[in-house]
Amino acid sequence: MENSAVTVAVRVRPLNSREKIENGQQVIFMDNHTTTIHHPDSKQSYSFTYDFSFCSFDKTDPNFASQQVVYEKLARPLLERAFEGFNTCLFAYGQTGSGKSYTMMGYGEEAGMTPRFCEELFSRVTNSQNKDVTCHLEMSYFEVYNEKIHDLLVVKDEQGQKRLPLRVREHPLFGPYVEDLSTNVVSSYADIQGWLELGNKQRATAATGMNDKSSRSHSVFTLVMTQTKTEFVEEEEHDHTITSRINLVDLAGSERCSSAQTSGDRLREGASINKSLLTLGKVISALSEQCQSRKKVFTPYRESVLTWLLKESLGGNSKTAMIATLSPAASNVEETLSTLRYARQAR
Ligand code: ADP
Repeated sequence: MENSAVTVAVRVRPLNSREKIENGQQVIFMDNHTTTIHHPDSKQSYSFTYDFSFCSFDKTDPNFASQQVVYEKLARPLLERAFEGFNTCLFAYGQTGSGKSYTMMGYGEEAGMTPRFCEELFSRVTNSQNKDVTCHLEMSYFEVYNEKIHDLLVVKDEQGQKRLPLRVREHPLFGPYVEDLSTNVVSSYADIQGWLELGNKQRATAATGMNDKSSRSHSVFTLVMTQTKTEFVEEEEHDHTITSRINLVDLAGSERCSSAQTSGDRLREGASINKSLLTLGKVISALSEQCQSRKKVFTPYRESVLTWLLKESLGGNSKTAMIATLSPAASNVEETLSTLRYARQAR
């Protein structure tokens, strides 16, 4: 696993109540690292191997993984990496309704990766015995919809006017960034919780008026951590800073990536979601290839806003993980198969 550029996990949710009522047949089976899907029509089986195959059916199953287990195996290594000074990304990929937001945000006791990550980060900072290191944290939260960026932490103005999308600029040293994106200094986990709630609410509000827009946009939660270490060299004080960017990304529903499109807005939307998910797939597989062959491989960051913005956090010494979420139901078999293939190319 340490040799691959990207750590890839798949996670299958339980059958939902509708699928149970319809006597939904379960088509996903997991054994150790391997996930097998049985096609109910062709009766063919396809098996794929990943770094992790997580299931949620039955607590006694050896592949069963609670939110805490998924966190420990997939997200915590990214946190370690961030403290070492590297950039990190975690993506959730999958069709709408397969468990992306459950995995990334979760709810209540079933908190997902984002709140667990932030909570542990603050607890490490607060409990650190090393008083020579101080840690400064800033967060931002935005969504990419139709290749356009909207700040999720800026409340719409009084008339509820739509704000103009933000622009991507490129800094000569630090690379691409979102111009005028709000950044908020956070000094406790409670601070982050407040901002997360606001951002999630804004995402949801935008969705209700617009035919469930949230499933058609990518949301990017970013923490920028600056650690300052004070060292004494010949009794002189020197400050040494390291900065790491942490990106936790809930991708748009992957179904638009494959299903036939109609016309107009839907077509444009389908095409742009398609473009960013396809580009992300290409970027990640280029990074994997590069890692394996140890040769430089062309990485098409520029082909979508999402990959362009995350350029400095993908590749190089940064650590990337992807969790592909799956529906277990026979009725979703085609989408699930395409998710399994997408996740495989990332390794
Ligand atoms: P998505 O964000 O991909 O559209 P959701 O996260 O909203 O999907 O999940 C759809 C439903 O399935 C939700 O009711 C969620 O609580 C449930 N669910 C998803 N993943 C799991 C899981 N691993 N265990 C239990 N319930 C899950």
